[in-house]
Amino acid sequence: MTAPDFDVAVIGAGPAGSTAALAMLNSGLRVALIDMATFPRDKTCGDAVAAYVPKVLATISDEFRAEFEAFSKRQVVHICRVFAPNGQPLDFKFSESGNIIKRTELDNFLCGLAQRQKHVTPFFDCRVNSIAFKPNQKIWELQTASGVLHAKLIIGCDGANSVVTRQLSDGRLLQEHHSAAVRAYFTDVEGVNPESFELHFINELPLGYFWIFPESDGSFNVGLGALSKFISDKQLNLRELLQHVVTKHDSISKRFTKANRISDVKGFGLPLGSRKIPISGNAWMLCGDAAHLIDPLTGEGIGQAMASGRFAGWMAVDCFKKNNFSAEFMKSYDRQVYKKFWAPHRKSYLMQRYLVPRFTLFNKVFELAHRSPVFRRWLQRAVL
Ligand SMILES: Cc1cc2nc3c(=O)[nH]c(=O)nc-3n(C[C@H](O)[C@H](O)[C@H](O)COP(=O)(O)OP(=O)(O)OC[C@H]3O[C@@H](n4cnc5c(N)ncnc54)[C@H](O)[C@@H]3O)c2cc1C
Repeated sequence: MTAPDFDVAVIGAGPAGSTAALAMLNSGLRVALIDMATFPRDKTCGDAVAAYVPKVLATISDEFRAEFEAFSKRQVVHICRVFAPNGQPLDFKFSESGNIIKRTELDNFLCGLAQRQKHVTPFFDCRVNSIAFKPNQKIWELQTASGVLHAKLIIGCDGANSVVTRQLSDGRLLQEHHSAAVRAYFTDVEGVNPESFELHFINELPLGYFWIFPESDGSFNVGLGALSKFISDKQLNLRELLQHVVTKHDSISKRFTKANRISDVKGFGLPLGSRKIPISGNAWMLCGDAAHLIDPLTGEGIGQAMASGRFAGWMAVDCFKKNNFSAEFMKSYDRQVYKKFWAPHRKSYLMQRYLVPRFTLFNKVFELAHRSPVFRRWLQRAVL
């Protein structure tokens, strides 16, 4: 009989996987943290990190939160400046600050934190090609680029094109529940308040938006994205559209006259949390993008990845304590994740479908918010 090399194999060491590994701190479990990349590595992203992320770390260890707060490569932002389709801006002030952090830095920080823990054995530059459950031994066998690994439980954190989701859950790309986005780094974009990040709802992109996010090194993460169904119906080329917006858009292009693009334009897919897929089963769980947990309106997924990773890490500890790995027992993981994210994701989905594309209504809502502080406060509560 094959003995498992590890109690838990976490596949993918992005925000979801690193947090899942951290959440098993002091559990006595032997955790393999496997990633096909070596860190630091880039991940195509807008780099906006939700305000609740330090709290997720604090629920695992106060030290992790303190390390995050001492981390210098983050731009603290207090305001989300939203531009209506007619160009009218409205500031939404956060009660707690968010951060803009380049993913090369954030993921290297989180994965470095996980790697330093005694219970974690890292396997980098190690793609997982396939997984198979061996029912007689009740263990998982992972075929990886570095050989075969065995574990009692697996946590799939391998992102938007997850091997684990494809094999164990529903990895179909449904265009109604999927977005695509591109981003590039620029310098010398004018008129950006470094304490705010900007979302522009523009006529060219009724089911998406254009963004400008300030980074701590003085550069800007600039990009745009939209629902895949819309992109496909309109046969949009997002790279060309980004170029068009920064050079030709009436109000936005004026702010890019002195700007320099300092990176390639990179694109990637976003599996949206507007539909539920099975995220656990017999001795397995999915987290982050692998679990399709991206906010359908904003495209945020880092916070969801970390929160779901933490729930999965805790659930794994519980499974070993109670020696129960059954699909039925695992369902409490699904309940925790969807209790936290399903209602906000539904709200985002409805706003994306019914408010954002109705430009006249959108503009009127913003006009009213400018005239009425009471309505403005209500809108802020409804949106954030
Ligand atoms: C253009 C764009 C802009 C975005 N902007 C934002 C934003 O501003 N804020 C925000 O919160 N979210 C944003 N998102 C979403 C965010 O990037 C994701 O939700 C987040 O990265 C999810 O984290 P994760 O850990 O689940 O997956 P990932 O960050 O994708 O990490 C998955 C890891 O798994 C590894 N991996 C994959 N396959 C394998 C395999 N077979 N074997 C081993 N390892 C594997 C990868 O190397 C990677 O390190 C954006 C997404 C896009 C595409």
